[in-house]
Amino acid sequence: MTRIALLGFSIECNRFAPVATEADFQARTLIGGQAMLDDARSPAPHMLGELPGFVADMDAAGAWEPVPILLAMAEPGGPVDHGFFLRLMQAWEAGLQAAGRLDGVYCVLHGAGLTTVDHDPEGLLLALIRRIVGPDVPVVATFDLHANVSEADVDLLDAFIGYRTNPHLDMRERGEEAAQMLRRLIGGTRTHLAHLRLPIVPPTVTQLTGKDAPNRPYGELIDLGQQRMHEPPYAGRVLNVSVMGGFAFADTPFNGLTVVVTATDAEAANALAHEIAEAGWARRDRFGPTLTSLEEAVRLAKATEDRSRPALIFADVADNPGGGGRGNTMWILEAFHAAGVQDALVGVIHDPALAAEAHALGVGARFTARFNRDLADEFSKPFAAEATVHALQSGPITGRRGIYASNTLGIGPSAALRIGGITVIVLTTRFQCADPAFFEAFGLDVAAARVVVVKSRGHFRGGFDEFFRHEQVIEVDAPGLTSPILSRFPWKHLPRPVLPIDPEAAWSLPA
Ligand SMILES: [Zn+2]
Repeated sequence: MTRIALLGFSIECNRFAPVATEADFQARTLIGGQAMLDDARSPAPHMLGELPGFVADMDAAGAWEPVPILLAMAEPGGPVDHGFFLRLMQAWEAGLQAAGRLDGVYCVLHGAGLTTVDHDPEGLLLALIRRIVGPDVPVVATFDLHANVSEADVDLLDAFIGYRTNPHLDMRERGEEAAQMLRRLIGGTRTHLAHLRLPIVPPTVTQLTGKDAPNRPYGELIDLGQQRMHEPPYAGRVLNVSVMGGFAFADTPFNGLTVVVTATDAEAANALAHEIAEAGWARRDRFGPTLTSLEEAVRLAKATEDRSRPALIFADVADNPGGGGRGNTMWILEAFHAAGVQDALVGVIHDPALAAEAHALGVGARFTARFNRDLADEFSKPFAAEATVHALQSGPITGRRGIYASNTLGIGPSAALRIGGITVIVLTTRFQCADPAFFEAFGLDVAAARVVVVKSRGHFRGGFDEFFRHEQVIEVDAPGLTSPILSRFPWKHLPRPVLPIDPEAAWSLPA
């Protein structure tokens, strides 16, 4: 019987955000053994879609013997506490050592991880896997589209499979693809990987792939890879094309838009990687963000009082928990409140102390809501306003659309507070507001709102697209840990010069 080890490490790390600890992984997914397999097979798993897709595809293909070891997955944060990461490494090592004979390994990775002392924890994990299973057992990994691709990521794998959609709606399909790829490798197919990195760190707002997105240079590259791999001379030779947009805020020496091609021969892998990289470089001037100032956002929000105008959704792209943001900056809420914006929903603010106070007071209570009462860092400043407790929730809730569809989301004690014409969702657990379920769980009607504010960079588009077309999306330029204006950050490790920060950045095809 085919025996396949299953393990993973998935977190996107923002160099400038507070350290991510074991508690951050426990809040999301830190499970091994049979519990890991059970969650993967659950209709509403805690984990994201890759492993559920992989397991479902393997189950459908016939008898196999999964060897579930340990999956550590967290909401994006800062660099992972290195001591905790070393304990994970010990657990993965012990599990692989105890596994006995293996025919293959499937590893769920994000690819933009950091620890407090290392730039490339995924590379460390892959090296560990190789050291134990040897060079001949196929190892396949899936990566988030925001992976920063290190040499180890490519050198140690038999196949590299990256997401192809942003918002990420294909996690499950990529897991299924990994299962099909691994079966092929176990069947004897041998692969060559090629990769090329460009000196471009595309701001995340310029990495959209939806066909109706306003500016999609990155989506065009993904489309090109998918088209070319099925045409001569690549058809039948190229098995996967992954174009990784990368995650600038990890600030590593290997940041940069990277093309990775998995093929049955080195010539095809290299040639197609070159082709896509050249197409990427040709689009280099299209990776600049176009944001709306806070002042203009206030004007637009007020203008929705005219019911003949469309409702609007404002993305607080600079405080995106999905990129390590704390989900608690107050710039937009404070400005909209001061301006008297009406019929507005704001979500989701991470503030456990305020959520607990609302639960203690109960529905209907009037009080002074003090946001960020104990925080005074650069971005998470206090704000207070008169509020009414409108609704309470303790979760977990179930995601409905987009990246969290069908996921079980443990939001913890949470509240909907009415502050003037604005209803604010306050959660105990930090999440990005990528799903209307975060409002609907409190009985709120997104379709009835004139203004919606989401702490999310882009995944909200996959959840709220049934209410808002792209023309109704306003990306607001407020301060924060995930601002797309990359020149504002004190970079230490990014290879320089790099676009769009340094206009003089240059690239030519390697000989
Ligand atoms: Zn991503």
